[in-house]
Amino acid sequence: METTEAFDGLECTDCGATFDATELGRCPDCDAPLDAVYDYDAVDIDRETLSPRPHEGLWQFDALLPFPASTAITTAEGATPLVEAPRFTDELDVERVVIKDDGRNPTGTTLDRGFSVAMTAVAQQERDDVTIASPGNGAQSLAAYAGRANVRHHSFVPSRSTFHNKAMTNVHGGDMRVVGGRFPDAVEAKADGVLDGWVDLQEFTTPYRHEGVKTLAYEIAAGLDWTVPDAVVVPTGTGEFLVGVEKGFRELQTVGLVDDVPRLVAAQPEGCAPIATAWERGLETPEPWSGPDTICGELEITDPAGGELALRALDATDGAAVTVADDDALESAYSAARYEGIEMGANAGVAAAGAWELADEFDSDATVVLLNTEAGGKSSDLLRSHLMGKGI
Ligand SMILES: [Zn+2]
Repeated sequence: METTEAFDGLECTDCGATFDATELGRCPDCDAPLDAVYDYDAVDIDRETLSPRPHEGLWQFDALLPFPASTAITTAEGATPLVEAPRFTDELDVERVVIKDDGRNPTGTTLDRGFSVAMTAVAQQERDDVTIASPGNGAQSLAAYAGRANVRHHSFVPSRSTFHNKAMTNVHGGDMRVVGGRFPDAVEAKADGVLDGWVDLQEFTTPYRHEGVKTLAYEIAAGLDWTVPDAVVVPTGTGEFLVGVEKGFRELQTVGLVDDVPRLVAAQPEGCAPIATAWERGLETPEPWSGPDTICGELEITDPAGGELALRALDATDGAAVTVADDDALESAYSAARYEGIEMGANAGVAAAGAWELADEFDSDATVVLLNTEAGGKSSDLLRSHLMGKGI
């Protein structure tokens, strides 16, 4: 496989065994997730080379990715803007609130970053079939990248997945199976339906999805002129976004581009909060959540694959975890659209609402980044229903 100069292979996050890039799944020895590792002394990168080049998307950072940009399956994902949020700044009574508007990715979610890197690995190995189970956004994103790579994709989505996601997954082509019930039912159907030779691109099964997400940290640091914000509030389901963002900031610190890492805040819906609950209880591994109940389907992840790694990321950044009511998530997404002009999906509204939960802890000179992981159009029906519920 064609890899970058600094890429040193894959390392097991539990037993420490190492593998080369041909390993596409979890650790063959202990079944823990694998993580890409680098020789940071060999990374040829400085602030100049990291200045934004939007037409290249996240692949402008390939010095810190496993694969060179010349091999990428890409639709110029990443390179999304940091947008000032003056109304939120006033309301939170801090120096600055900025929204990292990752809803502007090709299929409207942060997931595009990870699928670009993961599909690049699959394409290099000339594999023919990929699969995931997804609440919905992941199926659409995978469909886009698999289509571009001319690889067959097999998605298992729950019936509650939104019309938008199901429709666009169909439009991108491939094989979508709608499973009655919720996300765990789709996971079960995938386990029964997977055929030999299909590459599983579930987060933390492929080593590369959180690897793509880490570029968010590079863009946030570059956008803030290489200062580190006081907090980054992250909508949290599987742990993929939290783990990726922590890794990205840690790498920037290692190569000397920033002095510190920001405090990461995991925001989860009250109706499904295994990571936040484990954090509050001081557990190393989240306990599976029983009886999930939230309108934020993307975050209704009862047994998060990256739960343990997410808790480690919170610990490493002196982080925090908050839970929010569905109504507050919807109200925050509505407020972002109404007062800041930024379209934010209900799942991302969990991060905005989460910042309010911590308002008392922010200093008046704090810079707070809210991660908008999902375009508003992904949940327009929910947002409009919320509005009608207010009598508007
Ligand atoms: Zn292992």
